[in-house]
Amino acid sequence: MSYMQQQLAFITYIQRMLVEGDFSATYKFALLHALADLCIEHPLQDETSELVITLDSLVDKLIMLYWHHAVPFSSEHQGEEALLRQNSGRQSKLISILYECQSRGVRNIHQLKASDRWPEIYKATLRTLKEGPLWRLQILSKQEECFLYPHHREQQFIQLNGGIAHCFRRFYDLVVFLAKNAWLQKIQSIKFNQALIGAQSQLQDFLFGVDRNALSKVAPVLVEIQQNRCFYCRKPMKDNVAVDHFIPFSRYSTDLGHNFVAAHAGCNNSKRDHLAAQPHRERWQEQNLVVHNRTLAEALSAWFYCDEQKSLAVADWAYAVASSTGAKLWLAKDSFTEAGIAHSGAADTAPVIEQVAETTTKPAAEPVPINQQAANQVPYFPDLKIACGHFKTGRSDEVEMRSVEQYAGVLDPQRHFLARASGNSMNGGKNPVADGDLLLLEWVTPEHAGSITGQTMAIERQDEAGDNQYVLRVIRKSAEGEYWLHATNPDYKDFAATEAMRPFARLKEQL
Ligand SMILES: [Zn+2]
Repeated sequence: MSYMQQQLAFITYIQRMLVEGDFSATYKFALLHALADLCIEHPLQDETSELVITLDSLVDKLIMLYWHHAVPFSSEHQGEEALLRQNSGRQSKLISILYECQSRGVRNIHQLKASDRWPEIYKATLRTLKEGPLWRLQILSKQEECFLYPHHREQQFIQLNGGIAHCFRRFYDLVVFLAKNAWLQKIQSIKFNQALIGAQSQLQDFLFGVDRNALSKVAPVLVEIQQNRCFYCRKPMKDNVAVDHFIPFSRYSTDLGHNFVAAHAGCNNSKRDHLAAQPHRERWQEQNLVVHNRTLAEALSAWFYCDEQKSLAVADWAYAVASSTGAKLWLAKDSFTEAGIAHSGAADTAPVIEQVAETTTKPAAEPVPINQQAANQVPYFPDLKIACGHFKTGRSDEVEMRSVEQYAGVLDPQRHFLARASGNSMNGGKNPVADGDLLLLEWVTPEHAGSITGQTMAIERQDEAGDNQYVLRVIRKSAEGEYWLHATNPDYKDFAATEAMRPFARLKEQL
């Protein structure tokens, strides 16, 4: 893995950690902060160096980080009641001891270390570290993914994997910003603290949050559309209806009218900031963007921006990111699926899902591995004509690599390829495809299937001779659940999809 790939994998991992980790207390944010600090404080041999961090030094760091948290926050409360809590249960032992020492006149960490309380504080903190964040920080969506350091519980140190310390140094500001911000939010979310913080706790919501008033308009519309069933588990809802942001608000914090579904409060809480699994995505697209597109726009446009194309684009973006990072998608309570191919980083920890199952016939010519290519080169199949008319036979044994300068996004030669359009059946509508246009396409694989309804797809079928034929059409679904292949040029008739046809690639862009 190159430095750049590892850095990307690192950022991705930190992002996922904050979304998929379970943060019932603030210790993990403190640990993340501590790790970043310690990496800055230890010079590295080179960019790939491993770094040994003793548990002693972590204990020191945690105490330093929590020192200020043990100062009374509120002047209207007495004693420990004036301290902010670090979890929703009882005050943490560490904060209590630090507070007690401060009350007895210990002014700083240096004095603390010299005091007779130090051995006790050290022991309590070490226990907290070991029982809490140290072996739990790297649990993402309930699974251990030891990207930062392996779990050797018997040792008095951890060893950051090769290159990780460099990444912490490289992205120190970002990691610490994220850790502090998440920490702050956690503290604000604890009920006990809200009484201390007062109206200020509303501030963030007021500035950046969800418009609760507008949200109340959404529930009745969705309840009717969904016939009073939870969008996710399909069971009837009573008065426990929650409005769920299908693409989580934390990922994209503009409220789009088509981005809501009604769900049980329990299902909604369990989904939290996760993206929903692929089957949910398909149903959301079907429900909100196709079948009830108009109803939603008419009912909600007074309160929300309603544009189903934009909603679709945001969803595609969110799922593309999830897929490229191997994030977990939420299926049901405590149940997750893989979004797509595992990220290129962390080869030793992340399960690499290589079974790009052969539900579609991928042309035999295998592209060159990614690492050996210039940026944005993808395979071009000169003999593969994507028919825009009637099915045409195409061949994919010829392949060459071509750069795609016209495309601003990142391309993956394992997923994307080029072929030419042939014919005029798609020469109509908003994005006409003319004969001879160069098409940027994306293979349909189980990992990158997504919903095909409403999308322009290359469809494959075999003729009597066993040769592959291809055609480009927009996929439509009838009320009876039948798929139709639609041509944007009105001169061509739509026809029903048959068992013999397979979606083979999705049109990404015309170049
Ligand atoms: Zn439910």
